Amino acid sequence: MRRPIIAGNWKMHNTTEEARDLVTLLRPLVGTARAEVVVCPPFTAIAATVNAASGSNISVGAQDLFWEDKGAYTGEVSGPMLRDLGCRYVIIGHSERRQYFGETDAIVNKKLLAAYRNELLPIVCVGETLAEREAGHTLEVVGRQVREGLKGLETGQARDLVVAYEPVWAIGTGKTATAADAQEVIAYIRKTLGEMYGETAAAIRIQYGGSVKPENIAELMAQPDIDGALVGGASLDAVSFAAIVNYDQ
Ligand code: PEP
Repeated sequence: MRRPIIAGNWKMHNTTEEARDLVTLLRPLVGTARAEVVVCPPFTAIAATVNAASGSNISVGAQDLFWEDKGAYTGEVSGPMLRDLGCRYVIIGHSERRQYFGETDAIVNKKLLAAYRNELLPIVCVGETLAEREAGHTLEVVGRQVREGLKGLETGQARDLVVAYEPVWAIGTGKTATAADAQEVIAYIRKTLGEMYGETAAAIRIQYGGSVKPENIAELMAQPDIDGALVGGASLDAVSFAAIVNYDQ
């Protein structure tokens, strides 16, 4: 019922030429994928990536957006600007934004509403730190991030939402949550979404992210509530990313 979605977060990697080369390699490798395929370049490479992906099954997302549509906000990029470039998705609240740029749940919420206002499909990231996990607070932290981050989102809109559960201690560290641990937290996220949106929660796609590789994707995807992956490091290599996208082939 839920179509899997595999998204690559390139972070601060790839010039326009590198982006073009990567998409050119990727296109034939993922052409028959059952999963939806998304790549998220840095702002500067979005136009080149959209161009290189044109006519393929690869959609393009941004890694962030600002919550206002225009104005005196030096250095920021807005929803209408991303739509203008041909973006379909936007990542919101990635743990690196929360950690290095002070993004709070309230900011995530403003960005989420800006994404919907501009017909961008949000991939909202949530996840606990190692200290929070060790203190036994994982579900409480993730539950709060979901409730606060999605405030004001209506049931009719929630269907299009993608949530990415990314334990902070698993991002870029080579440590993956076990498939069972990821399933436990993701099932809790779906339960929380059920309290907020009723039956619509069954249609919302929830990804796992954190050191996803070709070697661990199949086990993660075999879990009943895991609908895809948000992939960092491994998305920079066309062959690795394609192997993740084609986990079921
Ligand atoms: C990410 O950036 O969202 C991520 C999960 O990174 P990595 O796959 O490198 O751990």
